[in-house]
Amino acid sequence: MRAVVLTGIRQMKLTDVPEPVLSNEKDVKIKLSTIGVCGSDIHYYSEGNIGSQVVEYPFTVGHECSGIIVETGKEVSNVKVGDLVVVDPSVHCGTCDQCKAGRPHTCLNNKFLGCPGQLEGCLSEFIVMPSYTCIPVSGKLNSMQAALIEPLSIGVYAVKLAQMEQTELSTAIFGAGPIGLSILMKLLADRVQNIGMIEPLDYRLERAEEIGASWLVNPTREDVVSTVKKQEELLMDIVFEASGDQKAVDNATKILKPGGKLILVGIPPDAQYVFNMDLMRRKELTVINVRRQNHCVEEAIELVVSGAVQVSKMVTHEFNLEETPVAFDMVEGYKFGAIKAMINL
Ligand SMILES: [Zn+2]
Ligand SMILES: [Zn+2]
Repeated sequence: MRAVVLTGIRQMKLTDVPEPVLSNEKDVKIKLSTIGVCGSDIHYYSEGNIGSQVVEYPFTVGHECSGIIVETGKEVSNVKVGDLVVVDPSVHCGTCDQCKAGRPHTCLNNKFLGCPGQLEGCLSEFIVMPSYTCIPVSGKLNSMQAALIEPLSIGVYAVKLAQMEQTELSTAIFGAGPIGLSILMKLLADRVQNIGMIEPLDYRLERAEEIGASWLVNPTREDVVSTVKKQEELLMDIVFEASGDQKAVDNATKILKPGGKLILVGIPPDAQYVFNMDLMRRKELTVINVRRQNHCVEEAIELVVSGAVQVSKMVTHEFNLEETPVAFDMVEGYKFGAIKAMINL
């Protein structure tokens, strides 16, 4: 089968690899339909690692996907051949303390699609996964919407962890990439009324405004703190950080009100942030880290099926499998107004 493999820093090629086979009776084989290019794929492409997770070449990335079931093991009952499925890229053991505590996303034996040293990714024609990772959506979602459920579920989970008891809270999001926009769409679906978007790229701010952000700040032109103060004198109840940028973290602690919550979703390139602990302590800020998602796939599907979220609004470009290197180059360089690029097979 055809697969796209990373062969070095900023190097990838389309090549022929053996087709994967079912390894047990609970597995399914999936023919990929649509694959989303994720910021984490780009980290592996341009830097060869995310923190301690280092690529050994050749390696196939990709974890946001939808596909058609083409083969099932004898013990599979939740999906059948011909179903379009959303694939949850996280494979957990089910027996460790984290799994038993309802936290399969931090499973001690977790294997993630397209994560170096764990599972080969989905930028290929076929993958084999345990059937429980597949949720059938034939007749409910198209293949692009289905592939966008993974990033949307992270936005849903980030908002869930923020534990917002009321819709009148003032919120701001740093970063209008796919995850920032997913958070925005979930907040809007929850009827949160005051949502600011802080983002240095004007074309991304425009997209956030189209989707429904209440106010916009471009930190390359405006002072974030004084602009936010003009919007909301008492500052923010909740800030979502979805850019991975130290400056955003600095500004987030400044624009949060005492007792506010900072939800960290973005991945800092060198795995470090510095916090102003004087500010953090005086304001008694709560910091919440978000690791992928936990039990939010079904809700993400429901939000799209019901029309509460129009998830394809984050998509700016579509490519075929041969064009994957072009897509990666474009997304890495923020070229041509790129936000979310999708690969169709
Ligand atoms: Zn992703
Ligand atoms: Zn486990």
